[in-house]
Amino acid sequence: MINMEFKKAYKFRIYPDARRQSEIDEKLILAQKFYNKLLEKSIGAYGDGNKSVSMATFNRFVKEIISENANYLKLYSQTRCEIEYRLKKAYQNFFRRCKGNKGKNGFPRFKSKDRYNSLTYPQDNGSFSIEKNRLRVSRIGTMQIELHRAIEGQIKTLIIKREAGKYYAVFTTSTEKVIPEVKNTTPVGIDMGLKTFAVFSDGTAITKPNFRKDSRKHIAKWQRIVARRKKGSRRRQMAKERLNREYQIANNQQEDYLHKITNQLVNSGYTSFAVEKLQVQNMVRNHHLAKSIQDASWSRFRQLLSYKAESAGMEVIEVNPKDTSRICSNCDNIQDMPLSERLFLCNRCGMQKDRDYNASINILKRALNPSSSNFDSLAVKATAGHAGSHAQGDMASAVQQASKSRIDELRTYSANAEEAHTLWRWEDVTYAKRGI
Ligand SMILES: [Zn+2]
Repeated sequence: MINMEFKKAYKFRIYPDARRQSEIDEKLILAQKFYNKLLEKSIGAYGDGNKSVSMATFNRFVKEIISENANYLKLYSQTRCEIEYRLKKAYQNFFRRCKGNKGKNGFPRFKSKDRYNSLTYPQDNGSFSIEKNRLRVSRIGTMQIELHRAIEGQIKTLIIKREAGKYYAVFTTSTEKVIPEVKNTTPVGIDMGLKTFAVFSDGTAITKPNFRKDSRKHIAKWQRIVARRKKGSRRRQMAKERLNREYQIANNQQEDYLHKITNQLVNSGYTSFAVEKLQVQNMVRNHHLAKSIQDASWSRFRQLLSYKAESAGMEVIEVNPKDTSRICSNCDNIQDMPLSERLFLCNRCGMQKDRDYNASINILKRALNPSSSNFDSLAVKATAGHAGSHAQGDMASAVQQASKSRIDELRTYSANAEEAHTLWRWEDVTYAKRGI
């Protein structure tokens, strides 16, 4: 049994009346201006010295800004602190990137009105409270909140958000939980695919949900309309709002889908999950819409899976993604596998497997046997959970024993491409696990 702290976020719709709405809107503008003012002043201090601005200097700037315009006092003091912290973080990220010799990209930027949509109350110290279906927030007032589910744990922070003309309250909570120890008898490797949503090392595959294509179409359409309309015009603003709504619809559908999949996954009898470590830098640089939606959904999937697996005492193990598609899961031969090639046909041992299926087995092998000579990097533990690093070796060897026979089974499972491509939609089956 292990005690662990879990953080969770809850998002609820709130219904501020006209007066509170204008209170929120006014504060969002103040927060945005405050951020930009602070950035403006700190750029002066930053000059060309390659040094971060100290917190003391920041605090001095804050005092200056407030004395220049007392309106900023309308912002809750902790909200101001959070803005300060946010900017400080932006600087830190910038300097970290500089050190990595990645040029001077990413200098903190001024934020436009459209981009500043949240107010943070970083501590539950009486600045907000919930009573029945009413949320009271310091300096804003009381408004109706739609509590569609119970909040578990202790509330830590509140974020008031405006999204596509609607208002939300996001609470983060922290809960201490006792986690059962789960024997890792049925680990599984997961390859996130392009054609399919995911393929597992036991041959199970999850198809992509259909809705993504439709919402993508809508998003692309409204993106074009926004681009076409005159900057600063009312029609463009309207199109922007519509675009935001489309994003939101797509996002809600995706959330729903990912929650269902991950729920099924942690209740399916698997005892640990191996996934590829995501390469965030590539993700950020990607401007292609379909790809960026996919990346977002993968990383969200991993987040949800990690959370749910950890809560149930199971691990999610991240492995180095290098060459997982190019290695033969049967004989470790490495060969070229252009993206268009759906079938892995090993030119050494003749093994034939669906491309993603082969990769998922490699991912599992890498998680179980991090020191395998073929892989130049160790499996990294994805989750902060459980005790320190010594557990990794223990786990690896224990799991290795437990699942060696399973991998052998997998190896003898001569799936041809056709079979491995038999896909299920998650609605059709309660998580179909492939009989091996
Ligand atoms: Zn081979």
